[in-house]
Amino acid sequence: MRSELYIDGRWVSPIKGGTFDVINPATEDVIHKLPAATAEDVDAAVAAARRAFDKDGWPKLSGAQRATYLRAIAGGIRARQQEIARLEVIDNGKPLPEAEWDIADAAGCFDYYAGLADQRDNDPGEAIELSDARFTSRAVKEPIGVAGAIIPWNYPLLMAAWKVAPALAAGCTVVLKPAELTSLTALELAAIADGAKLPPGVLNVVTGSGSVAGQAIVDHKGVAKLAFTGSGPVGSKIMAAAARDIKRVSLELGGKSPFVVFDDADIDEAVEWIMFGIFWNQGQVCSATSRVLVQDGIYGELLRRVVEETQKITIGNGVEDGILLGPLVSKRQYEQVLGAIEAARSAGATVACGGRRPDGFERGYFLEPTVLTDVPLDSDAWREEIFGPVLCIRPFSDENEAIELANESRFGLAAAVMSKDDVRAERVAVAFRAGIVWINCSQPTFTEAPWGGYKESGIGRELGYWGLENYLETKQITKFVSEEPW
Ligand code: NAD
Repeated sequence: MRSELYIDGRWVSPIKGGTFDVINPATEDVIHKLPAATAEDVDAAVAAARRAFDKDGWPKLSGAQRATYLRAIAGGIRARQQEIARLEVIDNGKPLPEAEWDIADAAGCFDYYAGLADQRDNDPGEAIELSDARFTSRAVKEPIGVAGAIIPWNYPLLMAAWKVAPALAAGCTVVLKPAELTSLTALELAAIADGAKLPPGVLNVVTGSGSVAGQAIVDHKGVAKLAFTGSGPVGSKIMAAAARDIKRVSLELGGKSPFVVFDDADIDEAVEWIMFGIFWNQGQVCSATSRVLVQDGIYGELLRRVVEETQKITIGNGVEDGILLGPLVSKRQYEQVLGAIEAARSAGATVACGGRRPDGFERGYFLEPTVLTDVPLDSDAWREEIFGPVLCIRPFSDENEAIELANESRFGLAAAVMSKDDVRAERVAVAFRAGIVWINCSQPTFTEAPWGGYKESGIGRELGYWGLENYLETKQITKFVSEEPW
């Protein structure tokens, strides 16, 4: 485990020298100490990133040259997949197979953006047809500058990859701040980039708190672009700070995503996707389909099956075999989720199963997977993100009611619909006010497809070509080509 910041291609101690504890959520043991960066360290990181961008020529390399580094990073991640997955488990709590999946996806993300970096070399820009024939014009894309990437704790390495890979492919340089709860694998990413001989300053990783290190990145005049994934309140602060300095900003925030199941759906398949949609990663998933709406005809049977399957989920330390649900990430998160379940009960909801600490666990932030019914539509449990293994399920009678209930939310990240009637499923998909819509499934995520939310779930899109565009400016180049005098 690394114990230093990675700035300008070197491992360094924080200038003011503070540390913070790394806690294994399955055991509550302090397993490591990491450097707490302050504004002084962020200054050094931004200075290095600026130099790499302005003077050392990272943006001037060809796309193919940048792609070589990205592919080397992908290879470096794959070579250490098992070891990094284990670090993710002891830091975040997720079951090992889920962590292995994340690490493979992170490597795939670097490969994918290597492909897009290659393609940038063949992009002459877009010719623009002007109304005045004395001029020609074209639009070209150029990297924005230094990107400040601030990420959450639910998919530590994968969220880093979603930002670092497209930023580097575009020609930006990066200062990355992982969440203070889960910083171990971001430092390993720095080590892998170092091993791939990424030029100094192109990627810098500073660990520390959001209010100190994160805020210093957000406020820094040398940072041209802020890319943030996290909670709504912090996203809002970041957007306000970006507005003050006219920084480019993209935000991936929370959700309370609906899953509409019509009564012609296959019940076995519906149960499987519902379980995946809420209990994967202990429900700490921004796009979790946490509000399930089931048509009257199958509601009773589906609820019975969901409760039955939920009670079978094996809970335990994510490093052990056969575990499907690990601990929540931190004591605070555990208390918040438990508090949300209690508040739902007080508001009139019924706990169909779960809702408490599982028997036999004295240590660790373990919580039973929970299904809530009779959840009042105006309660926090129905309206607010719980970010834990808590499913709210309720019946509906017809399509219009389902769409209305689904869209009645200040969030709009994801939504899912299940029906054998293709025409109806497509109609509902169009009617959802959400940035990601799944038909007959929930949660599959592809590096090639745009990711992001409507409404208060965020602004901008990550992944795919859209993710690259996040780090590009558009420049108009217009030439006077006429013999006539102006
Ligand atoms: P958070 O907002 O508390 O923290 C996210 C990051 O922001 C951390 O690195 C934190 O240190 C930093 N931060 C906190 N205060 C800051 C400040 N004042 N200035 C700069 N940085 C600051 O969120 P979290 O608890 O880490 O993550 C959970 C939230 O993230 C959930 O709401 C979830 O929905 C959301 N999320 C969204 C997506 C998505 O793709 N839309 C993905 C994952 C998580």
